[in-house]
Amino acid sequence: VRGKVYLVGAGPGSAELLTIKAFRLLKSADVVLHDDLIGPDILDLIPKSAQRHGVGKRCGRESVSQEEINSLLTQYALLGLQVVRLKGGDPLIFGRGGEEIDALRHAGIEIEIVPGVTAALGAAADACIPLTHRRIASSLLILTGHRASSENACDWPEHISNKATVVVYMPGYHYEDTARRLQAVGLDGSTPCAVISQATSVKEQVFCTTLDALPGVPRLPAPTLLVVGEVVRFADPARLHQEFDWIAGQAGEVVVSSTEFAESGTQEQSE
Ligand code: SAH
Repeated sequence: VRGKVYLVGAGPGSAELLTIKAFRLLKSADVVLHDDLIGPDILDLIPKSAQRHGVGKRCGRESVSQEEINSLLTQYALLGLQVVRLKGGDPLIFGRGGEEIDALRHAGIEIEIVPGVTAALGAAADACIPLTHRRIASSLLILTGHRASSENACDWPEHISNKATVVVYMPGYHYEDTARRLQAVGLDGSTPCAVISQATSVKEQVFCTTLDALPGVPRLPAPTLLVVGEVVRFADPARLHQEFDWIAGQAGEVVVSSTEFAESGTQEQSE
């Protein structure tokens, strides 16, 4: 039997957002190599009989280098094993999927890609933000705030239309810098934006503001995403803690925590 490597998307966090195919492959894998972002609910689905390796980075340090990951994938497949390379979200969105495909092809190993719900889609769904909208958002731009090296500014478009929705993966905490850069490429300071932390998990938090006020957003726990665009005005008001009034220009400091919301929803108001 020839081995095979499946590059599988685990979705943004919640095990409910795995595809049926990802679920089936996890259940029958001989070996699973997974990233740090994969939560315990999903890891628990891996049978005890399968070998399991965490190969993600922690604290900005690579615990296992990309070369080592490529070589592990290759070696296991050459042994004739069914190998699942499990990645957060979709394996081909900021997931180094391209590098792994390259290495495996080079070694003549069969590959199959299983798409996953990328973080932008999971986060937007939970916050009730339509990423496109017939009248106000005709395009969706997926960017990364992460720089491949510190000298190397990441390559953003020279102009971004105010009819685009922008999602920044790996936004870091340099909010002032990010807000300035987005305004430099054409967005207005009053453009609504949301920082969404730990989307689709029970610890999810959504913080809505504007580009002008973005530097005042607290450091929410990683992973976080930044969503920018008029569509952020649709963020589910039923999930906000306090009156949230964009029109009055009070586009500020509103924290939405789905956990707290869920709890307050099950109790009588106590305040
Ligand atoms: N392949 C993944 C992205 C990997 S890059 C995908 O398709 O989603 C890692 C970045 O993804 C994080 O820095 C963060 O910006 C984003 N991310 C992943 N999971 C997230 C989550 N549950 N909530 C918010 N952002 C998330």
